[in-house]
Amino acid sequence: VSKAEIMDQSSIDRAVVRISHEIIEKNKGVSEIALIGIQRRGVPLARRIAKKIFEIEGIHVPVGILDITFYRDDLSMLAEHPVINGTQIDFPVSDKKIILIDDVLFTGRTVRAAIGAVMDIGRPKAIQLAILIDRGHRELPIRADYIGKNVPTSKNEVIHVKLEEIDNENLVIISEL
Ligand code: 5GP
Ligand code: MG
Repeated sequence: VSKAEIMDQSSIDRAVVRISHEIIEKNKGVSEIALIGIQRRGVPLARRIAKKIFEIEGIHVPVGILDITFYRDDLSMLAEHPVINGTQIDFPVSDKKIILIDDVLFTGRTVRAAIGAVMDIGRPKAIQLAILIDRGHRELPIRADYIGKNVPTSKNEVIHVKLEEIDNENLVIISEL
């Protein structure tokens, strides 16, 4: 099984810093911004970005959590679909610019489910998407506003994102299935 490192700790750190600056610039500040991390590894990424935004702007942006897992519709279907398990969003989403944050963007189905969950709660002013790795293979008209790294993959390659808060190290690896 071939494995290759595509991001180390410093390149992950730099991506978080750049995305934080891009969020501030695109939205002309962060007064209307709230972040929502998609479980699991979108959550520490959202917290890192919130921390960086505070260092730059001196403003605490709210951070919420969306818990989405994959289910099979029935045994005859091989494809899994994302289902909302729960949310921890302790702020009103109406009139906020919501930034969804996840580790890997693939078909776009998880983000579609996340958009639906946010819009069930209220009426945000806008929804944007930040992603650490875009591995391609979209099946829906969804794209990220902020991208750590574009990593074109084949379907039999998989990305491993390791974050200190969960995995005790910061690393992104690509490997064959
Ligand atoms: P999608 O719904 O866009 O097909 O897949 C995105 C979701 O599945 C994300 O929440 C992401 O964590 C996970 N995912 C999809 N492909 C990969 C991958 O290659 N590596 C990792 N670590 N997660 C993936
Ligand atoms: Mg995920």
